Amino acid sequence: MIQFDKVVKRFGDVTVLDSLDFNVQKGEKVTIIGPSGSGKSTVLRILMTLETINEGVIHVAGRPLWHELRNDQLIPASEDHLRQMRKEMGMVFQQFNLFPHMTVRRNITEAPVHVLGLSKDKANQRAEEYLELVGLSDQADKFPSQLSGGQQQRVAIARALAMKPNIMLFDEPTSALDPELVGEVLNVIQRLSEEQDLTMLLVTHEMQFAKQISDRVCFFDKGRIVEEGPPEQVFSSPREERTQEFLKGFI
Ligand code: ADP
Ligand code: MG
Repeated sequence: MIQFDKVVKRFGDVTVLDSLDFNVQKGEKVTIIGPSGSGKSTVLRILMTLETINEGVIHVAGRPLWHELRNDQLIPASEDHLRQMRKEMGMVFQQFNLFPHMTVRRNITEAPVHVLGLSKDKANQRAEEYLELVGLSDQADKFPSQLSGGQQQRVAIARALAMKPNIMLFDEPTSALDPELVGEVLNVIQRLSEEQDLTMLLVTHEMQFAKQISDRVCFFDKGRIVEEGPPEQVFSSPREERTQEFLKGFI
């Protein structure tokens, strides 16, 4: 579903992704862990086409992301191609990023109406469906500022789902929350992860949660995957010294 081949990303002189090879299979739930600055968010932002790449090739759902194929040649992707590719993915950010001047309902229906061309009725129906999934059916007419952080993040998840993406990307979805609100957001993500069709890529520091929901854990350091494997193996008996050092900080 996602394939990075020798992807290089630089910001100025700084190499942030260092010839990264990385794959996620269809339906797989993969967690990325690693120190601050190791390139975790950059991976997700590149997938969402919020950042470009310097070298390498990425495929999403079997199609090149930052390129398109014309006459057997890979050429830089057109804006139209990028728009199509973005529909494969939904992303949830650390800072919920809801539209502050729109109700919860409008936050969720905006993209389905304007990007997918759904009728208002259809989009409202969809909003109700996903608000129910995240347990917020009764909050549709509120504004984001009237909700707790945990509720706002659940709206952000419903908003991403309303585009019916095949892939969900989560970038530290609970890092900005007060501790007592973390559980309600993790519960929603857990429920989603049990819906087998979604492919999930999650960046988190919630190690216990990562252990519960991941098929595979990847430890990133300095723009590379240092170690990856089933969560039991990576968390209980990490092979690499850098992984061991990093995980010590979470016990
Ligand atoms: P992580 O999510 O693992 O903490 P990031 O992917 O956000 O790491 O960042 C990786 C590195 O890239 C960091 O050194 C960060 O400072 C740098 N970086 C990220 N975004 C930018 C940007 N827009 N301009 C310059 N440097 C950036
Ligand atoms: Mg980050």
